[in-house]
Amino acid sequence: MSFDQLGLTDALLRAVAETGYDTPTPIQTEGIPPALAGRDVFGCAQTGTGKTAAFVLPILQRMDLDERPRTARRPVRALILTPTRELAAQIGESIATYGAQLPLTHTVIYGGVGQGKQVDALRKGVDILVACPGRMLDLMNQGLLKLDGIEYFVLDEADRMLDMGFIHDVRKIIAKLPAKRQTMFFSATVPREIRDLADSLLYQPVSIQVTPTSSTAETVEQAVYHVGRNRKAALLKHLLKDKEMSRILVFTRTKHGADRVAKILKKDKITAEAIHGNKSQNARIRALEAFKNGQARVLVASDIASRGIDIDEVTHVVNFELPHEPETYVHRIGRTGRAGNSGKAIAFCDLEERGRLKGIQRLIKQDIPVVDDHPYVGSEHDDPPREERPQRPPRAKASGPRREGGGGGGGAGGGRGRSSSSENRGGGTGGNRGGAGGRARRSGPRR
Ligand code: AMP
Repeated sequence: MSFDQLGLTDALLRAVAETGYDTPTPIQTEGIPPALAGRDVFGCAQTGTGKTAAFVLPILQRMDLDERPRTARRPVRALILTPTRELAAQIGESIATYGAQLPLTHTVIYGGVGQGKQVDALRKGVDILVACPGRMLDLMNQGLLKLDGIEYFVLDEADRMLDMGFIHDVRKIIAKLPAKRQTMFFSATVPREIRDLADSLLYQPVSIQVTPTSSTAETVEQAVYHVGRNRKAALLKHLLKDKEMSRILVFTRTKHGADRVAKILKKDKITAEAIHGNKSQNARIRALEAFKNGQARVLVASDIASRGIDIDEVTHVVNFELPHEPETYVHRIGRTGRAGNSGKAIAFCDLEERGRLKGIQRLIKQDIPVVDDHPYVGSEHDDPPREERPQRPPRAKASGPRREGGGGGGGAGGGRGRSSSSENRGGGTGGNRGGAGGRARRSGPRR
């Protein structure tokens, strides 16, 4: 299947060709034709599957073919709601890229920055609005934004909206949308509340499920290092001696943890930046830019801040701490091995995190190979590494086993995990993401 079989106009085909894509991803192949025909779409797909183009291209085309006069008082015609500023900015960039030749305007609104410029942009008249729910609701409450002209609505990353506590804001916004509209709904996982929300929003949708084939199994090599909590930073610095680790995304569970790890690395002259929700939008953009242009070799991120960050060629993802939610692990490691590139995912696991590791392995349906030839082996003690341990006289009482698990990995990045493709179970929690790809399963109207 190629892009020119999807029904896109020449202007959009040229824009797509200029981005360098030659083959549509499964969500694009399955989603673009019905969306162009005006159907509602339910897409069970994560970031990394190419879903942005799957909704942006049809919206641009339909709006372009149904052009309206460009007056300042014209209403917003398309609304794309997305949970994070980074995702909003990326969707805005996609619209700018694909729509470069079209006479359509767009703007992006999110919180954490002054509202002045956003309000000015709205006043000038905007065709497509990309928004995070909090700021959007603020502007609506101030009477600065009306939704009665919305013809196209996209709810992106609906499950994240729920996780991040935005679902009430989302519902308030939805309540103001005209009933007659085209809706596209995307979610990586489909818990009950999300299913109900989708059912209430969509009219006879085409359901597309991107079966995550490859990411965790084929294009990302995974490895786990059992290491005590207080020795994780030392292990990270040890691994970073490997020059192949050139662009590394490190995940911590907390904002404070992200700052702490970045500080420790910088002290060792390793260029690092931290990104998390406590930083100002400008500081986040600066950190991201430094990472993208190579000034910072390491980006240390908390989960929320990292959501949807689209950076090419992340060579390694390090799970400095394992997440509580196994799905988050899949999202995290999906930052590497994108669009067919290979990538390595390293997990540090201390004693308290063993249960989380089990949950992750259950979800991805594979055992992650253990690397046990490093100087900080052992998840339960925080004693000095083997190479630095002072010679002590033998003690009367032996301490417990220091080494965990079996299987060999070897080297930073470890061995290749067993490959398995796990299906995104409908109505349940999701599985793996597939590069900019995965297999798509499409079904007809659900109602
Ligand atoms: P998304 O899931 O929309 O965040 O897209 C994930 C990544 O895949 C982005 O870096 C896109 O630029 C890229 N991408 C989207 N569509 C394609 C395609 N057809 N071929 C190659 N890369 C793509």
